[in-house]
Amino acid sequence: MLNVCFKCGIYRADKIIDPTGPYAICPECGHPHPFLYQPLLIISGASGTGKSTVCNRLVGHYQDAVLLDSDILWRDAFNNPKDNYRDYFETWLRVSKNITQSGRPVVLFGAGLGVPENLEGCIERRYFSSIRYLALVCSDDILCERLEQRPAWRGTRDQKFIEEQQRFNQWFINYSNSNDQQPIKILDTSRKSIIETTEEVEDWIRKNQR
Ligand SMILES: [Zn+2]
Repeated sequence: MLNVCFKCGIYRADKIIDPTGPYAICPECGHPHPFLYQPLLIISGASGTGKSTVCNRLVGHYQDAVLLDSDILWRDAFNNPKDNYRDYFETWLRVSKNITQSGRPVVLFGAGLGVPENLEGCIERRYFSSIRYLALVCSDDILCERLEQRPAWRGTRDQKFIEEQQRFNQWFINYSNSNDQQPIKILDTSRKSIIETTEEVEDWIRKNQR
């Protein structure tokens, strides 16, 4: 529970990071708390690009990091578009920070987490040495095909939903071409088998987790 100071007992999420320790320094009393300062890995992409399938295939197989599907924490209380779902993103960063303290970095799979502006301004962002982003993308046609193949109860065959996901998919491609301050690595899954995609994601995790 890194946010409660071990010396003065006050709760502060906004500790001062000294990377040379690394220490998380209490702003109240100055107590330097040693902690593990590791990267956080995000694997994102629109619905239908293969995130969940890849996550499912890697969990249990890849054991050098903790892999989590970010949907598992979602509930109505987080559904707050007015502040851009800030509580949801802060919660994931806090959970990931605490998991990371056991020695393995965290890899989060999720759509909204892949938009850097959703995470980079969060208070809890400071506890990670970097956030590395990978986005799975594919062509519009293939995305549409994949969403239409899903069972009806998931609601992904709806034309409006498909168009939204195509726009989001395109957003990742445009972003990666235009932004090198907070780069997103793109992995085009259009012509890849799920086995190939999974291997490439595994490779990316291995290279980026240190
Ligand atoms: Zn303190």
